[in-house]
Amino acid sequence: MSREQQVVDRTRRAFRTGRSRPLEFRIQQLKRLWSFIKERQEEICEALRRDLGKSELGSELYELLVLEAELKLAISRLAEWAAPRPVEKNLLTLTAEVYVKPEPLGVVLIIGTWNYPWPLTLLPLVGAIAAGNAAIIKPSEVSSNSSKVMEEHLCHYIDQDLYPVVAGGVQETQELLRLRFDHVFYTGSSRVGKLVMEAAAHHLTPVTLELGGKSPCYIDKNSDVRIACRRVTWGKFVNCGQTCIAPDYILCEPCIQGQVVECIRQTLLEFYGADPKCSPDYGRIINQRHFNRILSLMEGYTPVVGGQSDSSQCYIAPTVLKDVPPHSRLMQEEIFGPVLPIVTVSDMDDAISFINEREKPLALYVFCSDKKAIKRMIEETTSGGVTVNDVMMHYTLSSLPFGGVGQSGVGCYHGKHTFDRLSHHRACLVRSLNMESVNLARYPPQDRRRARRARMALRSPLIDMSKRTLIWAVVATILGVCLSIALLVILLIAAGLNCTCWYWRGFYN
Ligand code: NAD
Repeated sequence: MSREQQVVDRTRRAFRTGRSRPLEFRIQQLKRLWSFIKERQEEICEALRRDLGKSELGSELYELLVLEAELKLAISRLAEWAAPRPVEKNLLTLTAEVYVKPEPLGVVLIIGTWNYPWPLTLLPLVGAIAAGNAAIIKPSEVSSNSSKVMEEHLCHYIDQDLYPVVAGGVQETQELLRLRFDHVFYTGSSRVGKLVMEAAAHHLTPVTLELGGKSPCYIDKNSDVRIACRRVTWGKFVNCGQTCIAPDYILCEPCIQGQVVECIRQTLLEFYGADPKCSPDYGRIINQRHFNRILSLMEGYTPVVGGQSDSSQCYIAPTVLKDVPPHSRLMQEEIFGPVLPIVTVSDMDDAISFINEREKPLALYVFCSDKKAIKRMIEETTSGGVTVNDVMMHYTLSSLPFGGVGQSGVGCYHGKHTFDRLSHHRACLVRSLNMESVNLARYPPQDRRRARRARMALRSPLIDMSKRTLIWAVVATILGVCLSIALLVILLIAAGLNCTCWYWRGFYN
């Protein structure tokens, strides 16, 4: 029996004990996960420095804050998320309890990636724990230092039988994928995403695939180009362009291309100084393979900004390329590095066609000051998420579902969406054995009268019997009664005054 099989068996046995289910246990584990991040912050930041050249402040801002925010949210909202959710009833089920109950799925396999190794591996875990599941955590071997810290220390904080870390490379991941899980949550490339889906299909296991692709960024000629370029420069070059929702390329009209280049150049100077290689805020490419891949994408172009590289440090300067042909290799695959091509389009119509002719992107960015045009851009395109007049900020809101569409992913997560994604929504209808006569309409022998009754009951409008509606109904009734009484009193007073008037009038007459 392989090591992976043994781990999965142990995890499933631990899940079957039922100890991952009580809400108190889930909250305790989430708190311990939080302690892990707090107490091991130094080791985590050091690992990120070694993996991706991230600064301590950058690690805190882009890796750990989002994790802490999700943990805080899950801990404070868990009781609400996990509670049965009453739904509308029809006449036939009016006296029954009808609700949707979120239940744990079982054992979840979480396959993480390397560009933000902490949130992209542990955010699904927050949802898995919150939903009462067991989970096997497979960090990416590519961010090896982060993977090592996770493997060595996580087991000292959270239940090691319910939430084990399996370190290893492609072979270990493939071995895990041969086994049976109740959900596979994968973050990484579309190429491997297909392999994951294929493996999961053997067991009919549902999957969440958080994939990548080319996220376009359209800058309208009537927008504030300077501000647009500041925001794009931040989103494109943070983490050295190795962000799944980084703007992959810019679309703009030829008349503003020069201005866009100049504004990005100025912003880069402001953000990273004259030599970004010396800036503590500018990272490194994860490894030599990706370094060579990105350099090969730039072959044949003369950069208008940047272009310098140093293979000994896996350093590639923030680079901008202009007038990139739409069908070049650079425009066929996700860049996932600090290279920003500009492709010119004739107008917004052309930009919309350009976007729609390609795979559905993970994110779309639009810089524009005309509300009608913004609405049109949103309505006539599609993408996993869209941010207007900024980049990547939709990721920061846990109220928004984060995920792709089509080739950019399957399913979404963040906040309650992760909880829901990793829960089974069980349909529950609990009746009593009373009122049997109500059921006659559906029992044989059928006749026209019974059939008519059954039809009426089934066609009756759905009735909302949720607590909130009932409270509103009670409040509305009390208010109604109060208003009626007040009206009655006013009428009586008015009538009384009238009588008095008549009396005095009669007296004086
Ligand atoms: P990667 O190489 O780290 O692979 C991710 C995981 O897949 C790893 O755990 C690895 O062990 C496993 N893996 C790799 N090859 C495999 C194979 N042949 N069979 C089975 N398992 C295999 O990550 P990557 O693929 O380089 O990730 C980069 C991609 O991830 C980019 O396309 C990026 O856009 C995307 N991404 C998406 C998101 C998102 O949230 N949508 C986030 C980050 C990255």
